[in-house]
Amino acid sequence: MKIGKYNLHIVEGGYFGLDGGAMFGIIPRPLWEKTNPADEKNRIKLATRSLLLISDSRKILIDTGMGKDWNTKLSEIYNVDQETNSIEKSLKNLGFASTDITDVILTHLHFDHTGGSVIRENNKLIPAFTNAKYHIRKSNFDWACNPSTKDKGSFIKEKFYPLYEHGVVELIENENQFDDEIEFIVVNGHTYGQQLVKISDSSNTMLYSGDLFPTTSHIRLPYLMGYDIQPLETIKEKEKVLKKVLDENWKLFFEHDPFNALGTVKKTEKGFDINEKFKSFPPAQKAN
Ligand SMILES: [Zn+2]
Repeated sequence: MKIGKYNLHIVEGGYFGLDGGAMFGIIPRPLWEKTNPADEKNRIKLATRSLLLISDSRKILIDTGMGKDWNTKLSEIYNVDQETNSIEKSLKNLGFASTDITDVILTHLHFDHTGGSVIRENNKLIPAFTNAKYHIRKSNFDWACNPSTKDKGSFIKEKFYPLYEHGVVELIENENQFDDEIEFIVVNGHTYGQQLVKISDSSNTMLYSGDLFPTTSHIRLPYLMGYDIQPLETIKEKEKVLKKVLDENWKLFFEHDPFNALGTVKKTEKGFDINEKFKSFPPAQKAN
């Protein structure tokens, strides 16, 4: 798919698992397990799906998944599975190496979004994309360095702080326009300063929806994650974004949905729901 000067490519980064109850908050299991079945440890399967944007001058990767640096215990707890897909393999299949990436945009610093930003070398974690600048929201960086008791389990400092120490971080304070096609939508319900990435030209808009809509199931307004630090804010933010998605015919890109990478939204009696679902980019529509 092409938007403006960018060619878009899906980069499948493998799978992991999180507790189904934590992923759906107050929604009872008989409802959520219809779409997201749980394993014997109550975990649901989640993807880590990055997006690669290629122009003549830039190769931009959005989010970096779990990465490889997990000990046996944590790897089992989170059911980390990069057997069939990993960022390295997916980039290689597209004909690229990690050294080709010029920019990494991180939506936020939860470990399942920034884990692949670093790799271990000589027993130290260092930037994995050696030629890239990492674009991080300052408000999220500040919070990630000093999180609350509630959400400190979602931040693992050694999966993002080495980037800062190596001087490869560009902290974004107030700017929302990255370039002609790329704009940030900042939301604060899930964590402070989550930056969703909107890619648009005159005919197409795609929203990399991060943890505002981690799966197609989360389009429904009350389907909120227990991880959110301000759940009522998340509902307002979802409603505001979904109105635009409908009015302006955006496509949503799902980072964590295990079955579908993209989708469109429809209005229902109860609010909003997934409409069309796509595993990969749909063929370009013919101009009338
Ligand atoms: Zn998150």
